[in-house]
Amino acid sequence: MGGTNLRIAAISTDGRLFEKVTLSTKADLSPDQVVGEMCDAIQHLSGQYRGGGALIGAGIGIPGIIDLEAGVVRKSANLPNWSGYPVRDAIEHRLGTRICMDNDAKLAALGEQWLGAARGVSDMAMITLGTGIGGAIVLDGKIFHGMNGMAGEFGHITVEPDGVPCGCGNRGCAERYASATAIVRMAREAIESGDAPELAEAAGSDAEFSAKSIYDLAIRGDGVARRIFQRFGRALGMMLADIVNVLNLNMYVIGGGVVSAWDAFAPAMFQELHQRSTVYAATIPDGLVNERTGAAENMCTGTRKKTVVTRAILGSDAGLFGGARLPAISG
Ligand SMILES: [Zn+2]
Repeated sequence: MGGTNLRIAAISTDGRLFEKVTLSTKADLSPDQVVGEMCDAIQHLSGQYRGGGALIGAGIGIPGIIDLEAGVVRKSANLPNWSGYPVRDAIEHRLGTRICMDNDAKLAALGEQWLGAARGVSDMAMITLGTGIGGAIVLDGKIFHGMNGMAGEFGHITVEPDGVPCGCGNRGCAERYASATAIVRMAREAIESGDAPELAEAAGSDAEFSAKSIYDLAIRGDGVARRIFQRFGRALGMMLADIVNVLNLNMYVIGGGVVSAWDAFAPAMFQELHQRSTVYAATIPDGLVNERTGAAENMCTGTRKKTVVTRAILGSDAGLFGGARLPAISG
């Protein structure tokens, strides 16, 4: 589930995607109405693929904080009128099958671990760069939730002690410097300072002045745009250094739309990570390191017992695969 649409996929237990459909969620619909439409679509899909085997359950990804035990949405910025809604019971009641639910960033991690960049790697973490930073830890092929589902809040690691205020109440959180929102904020600040003529022109002519527009300027060589992505990479590298030092996992997968700007931020990210993390420096994959970027991107022989930081490969389907995986591995 997202703020603007709902995507549903029929996926087999061995990871074959039969079909996916997208429904738009109109903001004025009540949670009950949205759940009704969702369940109709799930029933339709499961009927169509009945020949592929029995429906063993449905996994639902929700953008926000969920009470996993109660199956209730606690807080969701994207779905404001869902607070307190007993989503699991509502769906279970309509479908009569097992319903598993989790936060969308956590399901994306599970998807990448099952069939994506971390396939075959049992312990990994994922960082999703979007309007904020989503995080998740997967241990032994299962999502690690912590005490109440809040483990993996990587985006709120402080990277600037007196930095930009964050919605969480802290200042200088990583997501204020290393998210799509942060790129646009840094660009607007540069424009206001008067030292960024190219950015000012792009902002003036582009109604949807976004991280993508700033990336386009960076790859055309604009110094200010390039420095914004370097700042982004440094913040991400600082955050990763803390995560790598604490968790000592085999693989860290970075996903989300902004990852398409990898070339613009990865060199600064790897440099910062290498400088600040003793664990990374001691476990950097040998022979596979890209000389220019410091990246160790190939997951092949020689990367066992090494720290691999790499891009996600499933894109927005990661969450669908993770959702499908959930009923299969939940006890
Ligand atoms: Zn924060």
